[in-house]
Order: sequence, then C-alpha cells, then structure tokens
Amino acid sequence: MVRTGRRSAGSRLAAIAAALTCVVGLATTGCTGDSDGFRPGAADAGDPYVPGRGNGGYDVSHYDLDVRYDPSTDRLTGRAVITATATQDLSRFNLDLAGLTVSAVTVADARADHRRGDGELVVTPRAGLPRGRQFTVAVDYAGVPTAVDDGSLGSGGFLHTADGAVALGQPDSAATWFPVNDHPSDKASYDLAVTVPDGLAALSNGVPGPKNSADGWTTWHWSERAPMASYLSTLVIGDYRVVTGTHAGRPMVTAVAASLPATGGAARSLARTGAIVDFLASRFGPYPFDSYGGIVVADDRIGYALETQSRPVYGPAFFTDDRPNPSVVAHELAHQWFGDSVSLTRWSDIWLNEGFASYAEWLWEEHDGGRTAQRNFELQYAATDWSQPSVEPGRESMFGTAVYKRGALAVHALRRTVGDDTFFRILRTWTSERAAGNATTSDLVALAERVAGRQLRPLFDAWLVGGSAPTLP
Ligand SMILES: [Zn+2]
Repeated sequence: MVRTGRRSAGSRLAAIAAALTCVVGLATTGCTGDSDGFRPGAADAGDPYVPGRGNGGYDVSHYDLDVRYDPSTDRLTGRAVITATATQDLSRFNLDLAGLTVSAVTVADARADHRRGDGELVVTPRAGLPRGRQFTVAVDYAGVPTAVDDGSLGSGGFLHTADGAVALGQPDSAATWFPVNDHPSDKASYDLAVTVPDGLAALSNGVPGPKNSADGWTTWHWSERAPMASYLSTLVIGDYRVVTGTHAGRPMVTAVAASLPATGGAARSLARTGAIVDFLASRFGPYPFDSYGGIVVADDRIGYALETQSRPVYGPAFFTDDRPNPSVVAHELAHQWFGDSVSLTRWSDIWLNEGFASYAEWLWEEHDGGRTAQRNFELQYAATDWSQPSVEPGRESMFGTAVYKRGALAVHALRRTVGDDTFFRILRTWTSERAAGNATTSDLVALAERVAGRQLRPLFDAWLVGGSAPTLP
C-alpha cells in the first residue's frame, strides 16, 4: 500500500463477541460438543492488530463467489461456496461477514444452523467435522454492503461510487462483500462471477473468463489460482476504459476510470506495468502470478494504492495534474512478490511487505535514470527517527514511516553488508522458497543467514528496531 492522503486520528474498537469465543482446552459455557472432543473454532485469528478478524478451526482452500450488484439500489446479492479443511475436531465455526443478511447456509449440502455476531457468521453443521475433513460451506446472502471506517488506518471496505462500487482495503475489507476467513494467514484461490448492468465494467483479480449478457445484465468472470490473502481481493465496478492484452504470454488487463483523461498520467503509468514487472522480475525472480494489470479509480475517498493480487488498484491522487507516476506502480508491483506471494503471518511484520516495496521504488528510480538507491539510502538515513521500530510498530503505526522507509533502509543495509550477488540471491531465494505462503521476520533473518553463510541477526536488529542510528555499513 501507498498513501496519498493524511491519516485521521482515532481508532476503531473492534470488539470480539465474548459469547462466540471458546478457548481451546477450557470447558467454556456455550462450547458445544466438548464431551466428544469436538469443539468450536476460535472466533478470531489471535492477531492483536486486527481484533475479531480471521477465525480458527479450519483452513480455506478456495472461494467460489457469485455476486450481483445493482448500483441503482446499492444492493448486492451473493452466494459463496467455500472449500475448507477442518484443522481440529470442529463442532462449530465462524466466518467474518460485516452487515448483510444471510438467508441460508449449508455445510456439505446439508442445512446448517447459523447466527450472527459482531462482524461474524457463526455456523453449526448438523454433525461435527473431524480434523482433516474437507468440507464445503455455501452461504446465500444479500444487502447493502458497507464501508469500513478504520480510523487511523483510513477508509475502505465496500464503497458505493458515482458509477458503481469499489471493494478495497487493508488490513481488512473482504468481509464487507463476502463471508470469509479474513486474515492473511489463511490464503486461498478464488473464482468470481460478478453480474452488473450492461455497459459497466466489473473488474477483479486474476485471469479474465468469459462475459455473458442476458436481460440487460452482464456477468464477468475472474479466476485467481494462486493462493491469495483476503485483503488482496478487490471488486471494482463502474464506467472504465478496459484494455485487455497479453504480456509474457499471460493476460494483462488494465482499466482507468472513464472520467479520467484517456491518455493522461494514469493511463500512461499503467501502460508501463509490463516494463516495470519485467525489471522487478530481473531482480526478485520470476513474476509469481498468471496475470497482470492495474486499475485506476476516480473516487477521491481512495487515498491510497493497494497491491490487490495481480491487479493493483490506484487512487486518483497519484496522478494529479495528469503527471505519470511510475514510482507507485513499481511499489505496488513489487508487492506481488513481497506481500502477495510471500505473505505476512501477523500484521506486526508488515515491514516485510512495505520495506521491500519501498526499496523497489529506489531500485526502479535508479533503473529509470533517477537518483541511485545508495543516494536515496543516504538521504533517508539522515531523515529517520530511530525511536520508531519497523517490526511490531503498533497497530496505529502499521502504515507509518518506520515500516516503509526504515524498512527500506534495512534492506539496503543488508545489501551493503553482504554485497550485490549475495543480496539478490537472498531475495530470489526468499521469493522462491516462500512463494504462495506466509512468513515472519525471523524466517527472513534465518534464510538470509543461511544464504549468506554468516550471522546477520545483529544487523537486522540494529536497522529494524534499534533505538539509535546504526553504523553505516
Ligand atoms: Zn505498500
């Protein structure tokens, strides 16, 4: 993510419904089935940066979503078929779902009891699901989706726009338009069919499928085969100039809001997507997904760009005065390796995403004839507040300077210490060994030490979390 706007003060208090919480090993009141060893899954992922988000007891492998959206009424109708595997003997489990009304739930084609909590859909199947059992959950739902006003973290969720809608946001947004295990630790593949009035575009992640029209409505299909964190899903509906082509043998779909200039800064920046991807691949290793693209929206409430998988979404403010902005494109595309393919396990490690994406801006700038990475490093070093840590920055600072700029400094300090050959070997080993998975800062340090054949923990500590300016390498 990159932001353009100012952050507002305040914070969201996302309460966990205590009634839904059932602690493993405790005979908590309301935990059904304890006597036979079956127990409810946890009601959140246990990540303090996103209280209430995510769930436990199962692992999703695939979301098959079929949604219909009518901009004239702002009403969304959906059916989600979720394929998951029980990771414990499961009597009951939660999905995250914000607002919307659920009309029916089935588990393995049998009607299941369901009730709602605060941002939760609680599903009780007819019979317990043994650990290791794969099952499908089908949820029929409808309603007017809502935005997420995340206080200091900015606004996202499902935004109704002048010509359609945009569903977007980090650290969470997906639960505003489909039931989901809404934490990046549970990645899954996606198929999406989205039906909108004829004439509007309906854009999402991955490879485009066929478009079918009937009775004034058009259904667009999208498929993301690589595991995707839920916050990296997006849905963009409206009047867009969509350009469909191929790059390196894979589909490339870019779209710019029709209200923005046809050959302006936004369109010219997106047109560089292929060249920037190829440059980054030469540094980071093969591009991890089977499609490319980007979407520029016109709604000023999107004051950021987000690395939605295979197809980042950019807010209009990056292209003010119609200037091109390849830097933000380089940042979001770098996330395809750092954040999207190799995803964080806990949000406190978000520097693993933003430090590398910020560093990619320096790499691209140097490649594009601008300032060298070394010069950017020196300027940033002089400007850094070393009292702010990159790791465990605190929820309110998860999009702060220490995560982005200090993270980039740490990456360049590593490069200076181990040399270019070893540095880029570390990066390529990371993106290949950890592809399609999740990782932590400790995983990165261990991998870097293994590839470099030397101790690097003190270096990472000094540059990421030390309280004073580290010695220049
Ligand atoms: Zn970013």
